[in-house]
Amino acid sequence: MASFDPARLDGQAALVTGASSGIGRASAIALAAAGASVAVNYRGSPDQADAVVAEIEKAGGRAVAVQADVSKEDAVMAMFEAAEDRLGPLDIVVSNAGIQKDAKIAEMTLDDWNAVISVNLTGAFLVGREAIRRFRAKGRRPDVSRALGKLVFDSSVHQLVPWAFHVNYAASKGGIHLLMRSLAQEVAEEGIRVNAVAPGAIATAINAEERQDNSTGIEKLIPYGRIGDPDDIGRIVAWLASDAADYIVGQTIFADGGMSLYPGFRGNG
Ligand code: NAD
Repeated sequence: MASFDPARLDGQAALVTGASSGIGRASAIALAAAGASVAVNYRGSPDQADAVVAEIEKAGGRAVAVQADVSKEDAVMAMFEAAEDRLGPLDIVVSNAGIQKDAKIAEMTLDDWNAVISVNLTGAFLVGREAIRRFRAKGRRPDVSRALGKLVFDSSVHQLVPWAFHVNYAASKGGIHLLMRSLAQEVAEEGIRVNAVAPGAIATAINAEERQDNSTGIEKLIPYGRIGDPDDIGRIVAWLASDAADYIVGQTIFADGGMSLYPGFRGNG
């Protein structure tokens, strides 16, 4: 007898922001591998987004590319419209797009601050708000999921761990932490699950320069002894969006090889 696999996402539609590279790309691919059709959002690299779409289609999945700058209200609304036009009502939204603009505090410009907050935090608000509106308009589809909708934010260990010289980034991720939990509290009774994943150090474009600078000794900060792959996070995003995680509401899953265990305190501290 065939049994229902709660980790599958067949018949569901998903949107992933910032999905033309890194963790967003891996999340889109993992969602598609689990059976969802996926809208691959990109800001400025259509070729990269098309490559993600092609990879998903080659594996037998369905995907479309949708352009938008997530920090712009009109663009976010148009992105959801385009995604639903092509894939149907969305069941899953992953707010992943993010940037860094690092500087010592005295040298951090207001533009550096505003750019990071606009994409990482205001973008998460705009995407999260539109996701909730769309889930409500769609209504329940018990044939594909117990939840009315699933919203996953890509946060960071830096929603918890302070990060000198990156106060804009850490503040944006700290903001996502309580945006996520407050929103989860607001909409859980409607059957909407809001959660987050908090990656540690994952090898992507966002930290390519830092990783090239071996003096950072990043591995020493990771008890598990390796930098993460985007797929480590993509798999968690797909699982969090599935009914296998149906009773997880308002939580952050730290996926960091133990980085948030503060390994510097091991031994004599
Ligand atoms: P990445 O640079 O490969 O991905 C970021 C994506 O966001 C890119 O595709 C970029 O085009 C997109 N983007 C940037 N601004 C945008 C905008 N205004 N509108 C739409 N898209 C936009 O890096 P990544 O590591 O995959 O980052 C993805 C997320 O993971 C970010 O939110 C980042 O903060 C978070 N994160 C990454 C790490 C890590 O170690 N790589 C750790 C913790 C959290």
